[in-house]
Amino acid sequence: MSYHYDILLKNGLVVDPVTNREEIADIAIAGGKIVEIMPGLSAEKAQEAFDLKGHMVMPGIVDLHAHASAWLGGRFGHKMMAQVGVTTALDMSGPIDSVLDIASEYGVGMNIACIQYVRPGHTVRDTNPGEKELETLLEQCLTQGGLGFKMLGGHYPLTPEATARAIEIVNKNKAYVAFHAGSLNKGSNIEGFLEAVELAQGNSLHMAHINSYCRGSVRPCLVETEEAIAALEKNPNIRSEAYLSPMNGTSAKCSGGTPESLVTHKCLNTGGFEATEAGLEAAILAGWAQINLEKGGEVVLAIGQEALEYWRSKGTETTVSFSVNPPEPRLRLAVAKRQSGEFVVDCIGTDGGGIPRNVIAEMGLSLVRLQALTLKEFVQKISCTPARILGLKNKGHFTLGADADITVLDLERQRAYMSLVNGKVIMYKGYVCGKGGNVIATAQGEAAVRAKGLNPVIVDLADSKFYQR
Ligand SMILES: [Zn+2]
Repeated sequence: MSYHYDILLKNGLVVDPVTNREEIADIAIAGGKIVEIMPGLSAEKAQEAFDLKGHMVMPGIVDLHAHASAWLGGRFGHKMMAQVGVTTALDMSGPIDSVLDIASEYGVGMNIACIQYVRPGHTVRDTNPGEKELETLLEQCLTQGGLGFKMLGGHYPLTPEATARAIEIVNKNKAYVAFHAGSLNKGSNIEGFLEAVELAQGNSLHMAHINSYCRGSVRPCLVETEEAIAALEKNPNIRSEAYLSPMNGTSAKCSGGTPESLVTHKCLNTGGFEATEAGLEAAILAGWAQINLEKGGEVVLAIGQEALEYWRSKGTETTVSFSVNPPEPRLRLAVAKRQSGEFVVDCIGTDGGGIPRNVIAEMGLSLVRLQALTLKEFVQKISCTPARILGLKNKGHFTLGADADITVLDLERQRAYMSLVNGKVIMYKGYVCGKGGNVIATAQGEAAVRAKGLNPVIVDLADSKFYQR
């Protein structure tokens, strides 16, 4: 007689808002799917059984804002995400080729989706790309295995007209579009955010990291936060996430004596430094600018002489983090609700991946401990809702027959303990053991994903929560 189940997860606190569960039960997995959930399933029927007493078992964490490309995040992003229990992530900048290459070489069994940056001088000619140019770029992006566009306005702005045009074109094609607010008119702040909401003109749009427009750079930070909340309430076409870490992440690359990114300029000014290459150097030595440094198979934050030497050795082309997110907006944005009872900000993301701030479990569980979120609400924001936004019908819930994408959390230590993707363990007790990668793409990108040796997960965004309100 053969085993009934491949894996049995015993005695965990199973939490799933979709099936309205919060109870101690066993979860049986066979053929990569969830086949049974109830207490008292026999370990003898399973090839492998884990006793998860004292742990919480939830649908796999979906981080709707991560970075794992050579341009941003780097090769260790997958491993760093798996270590903290993330099973699915959306890379929020591309380039798509690089995201797929890294998934293929450094993948640890996770699901990854990717959108392509719309960046003057890189993917578009200048700051005012026309309809034809944007359509061609979108076509290429989908064929390469991407889901749509990321507009990097805050860092590398377009004209407001081109920004609106890009959002419109993506919507016509029912692809995905995310926006880091900012244009040639407005910066990466609350004014830029309010402009972005206008530029969407009722189209579906993912507004990235809402907390980053509420840092108090125009008005007091909580005033900005309430303005952002009011705008999101009024515009149900906008999907959003906010993150919990105090740290941001931006480019440290300089050319002609100044940092290229306008966000980096602002962060330097905030810390009392000049927005020049010399100012950035001083900020690194003073500890205000923390260089993202690859070391020992992960990315760490570094300051002082070591950081300065690393930054110079890379010709300034590194990521840099500043502690610019005040706590009050982060807390308010994580918990704010609409009158309907739904969250104003759909998801808790990280803007992490290879940028070391993957704190969904660590800091999110602090919100649960504070009783600012219930466990079910927490799971809603970090798994159910983001899975639906990406059109992943078989993920983000524990319905029988769903994909066995599972995250196990140690509630006491506020850490991820174990995670599985399609019924395969990819992380156990912090050790990452998964291999390869699954890429969430449209039918148009299936061949490109396979050509990279990766496994396609095909979604229809027209039928996702990105478009369905
Ligand atoms: Zn980002």
